[in-house]
Amino acid sequence: MIIIHGSVVLFDYTLTDNEKDVIDSSSEGGALAYLHGEGQIVRGLEKAMEGRNAGDAFQVTVDPSEGYGLHDPSKIVVVPADEIEGGDELEVGMQLETESDEGEQTVLITKIEGNNVTIDGNHPLAGIPLHFDIKIREVRAATAEETEHGHVHGPGGHHH
Ligand code: ZN
Repeated sequence: MIIIHGSVVLFDYTLTDNEKDVIDSSSEGGALAYLHGEGQIVRGLEKAMEGRNAGDAFQVTVDPSEGYGLHDPSKIVVVPADEIEGGDELEVGMQLETESDEGEQTVLITKIEGNNVTIDGNHPLAGIPLHFDIKIREVRAATAEETEHGHVHGPGGHHH
């Protein structure tokens, strides 16, 4: 069967950047399963999956606008360390959970100068074209329970 809205898709992937460095790959975490049409994978990849079959292998490049978003300079801000919880133990590369108007957000510390801490709220892959190498292993209809839960059960999906 081909991939349509409501299909469960199990696939292998390798994600590389413009320099051909591997960002992520299913060879580490195993094949990934998702419910097609629900925005569970990046939009550009989901579009490229539509209508494919089990056994298909393909490559697709996803622009940031359909990937993890464009890099937004306004999401980079400098805050005083003493206004951050645990401010005396901060390090460059550390991730922090913050509350904003848009809900909970993960930000990355990119620079520390004295009491000035630069934090970046962009997704680590924002602004980066994503090169996917995809191999589709299995396509099946979602069970009633999976549709109700809104996620895939079993290999590559949720385990309750
Ligand atoms: Zn479930």
